[in-house]
Amino acid sequence: MQHFSNHIDILIEQFAKLPGIGRKTAQRLAFHVINLSQEEVQELADAVVNAKENIMYCQQCCNIADSSLCSICGNPSRDSAIICVVEDPRDVAALERSREYRGKYHVLHGTISPMDSITPDMLKIKELIKRLADTELQEVILATNPTIDGEATAMYIARLIKPFGIKVTRIAHGLPVGGDIEYADDVTISKALEGRREL
Ligand SMILES: [Zn+2]
Repeated sequence: MQHFSNHIDILIEQFAKLPGIGRKTAQRLAFHVINLSQEEVQELADAVVNAKENIMYCQQCCNIADSSLCSICGNPSRDSAIICVVEDPRDVAALERSREYRGKYHVLHGTISPMDSITPDMLKIKELIKRLADTELQEVILATNPTIDGEATAMYIARLIKPFGIKVTRIAHGLPVGGDIEYADDVTISKALEGRREL
């Protein structure tokens, strides 16, 4: 049912497709956008298109990057002996905020999820296994979220790493079960890292 102009309805429709945006918020955003100046609207549109066109994935850790190597992998002061495996680039951001961790990362871009038909080959697991050949590497920390899928993914990866003779650890359960690393506070993240146990 059309309530406004067709153009606005299309804009509302697009906002409503975004995660966490309900109908009312989509409407509010659409009206906010049409009240912006032409220049501001262009800036917003450019930011969306540029982000999509120019984002790359680090060829080492698969994190989002501006070049073929992300700023963490490219930083010689980061400890190459430890890789912390996370689900999502936002988890890297959360762990970095806590300033506790000085090793490197590996971003899976999801978890194994039979419910959502997400199989191991759809994640960046092959890329992680390739990195195990690095002789400097001593420990892989599995920091997937404490959800059913996150635990299953950690167990799956731990089994793959074992034959390489590299220490595999799982972050402690300081994080609330079902809670996301992304939303955890710095102290909780530090404690979860500190209390990690060997698998
Ligand atoms: Zn990287």
